[in-house]
Amino acid sequence: MSGDEPAGDSHASLHALVWARLRRVDQRYTSGRQAIVELFLQAGHPVSISDIVEALPALPRSSAYRHLTDLQSAGVVRRVAASDEFSRFELDENLTAHHHHLLCTSCGRVIDITPSAVVERAVSSHLNELAAAEDFEPHSHRIDVLGICAVCR
Ligand SMILES: [Zn+2]
Ligand SMILES: [Zn+2]
Repeated sequence: MSGDEPAGDSHASLHALVWARLRRVDQRYTSGRQAIVELFLQAGHPVSISDIVEALPALPRSSAYRHLTDLQSAGVVRRVAASDEFSRFELDENLTAHHHHLLCTSCGRVIDITPSAVVERAVSSHLNELAAAEDFEPHSHRIDVLGICAVCR
């Protein structure tokens, strides 16, 4: 997902998906929630609560937290974090595309990475084998790399 796509049909269809997902859990797609989802689309990378408050000054921090919690429960947003100290949020993969993250343990920066299709298939297949050995039915996986970003180094 790139950050410089114009707001067009793809955004409209994504907003429609979010609307449907919230509706499923009896939640409304309020203007505050729409603004947060639009911010995720514009940013194109995981954002912190401070990023959200900075970009949407009319939205009180407490409301931003509440919206994020509700969007998470509805399966629209997921939390990505190197530690509790550094929470970032992004649209759930089922609304975007499967990817992994580089997490800086020094500043909390999160960088999206997408392995090649060959690597992704190999990783999935190996994880599926490990899961099968435990009689576990896998649905998805999350692999995040912890380390130090270029700025912090
Ligand atoms: Zn860093
Ligand atoms: Zn993967």
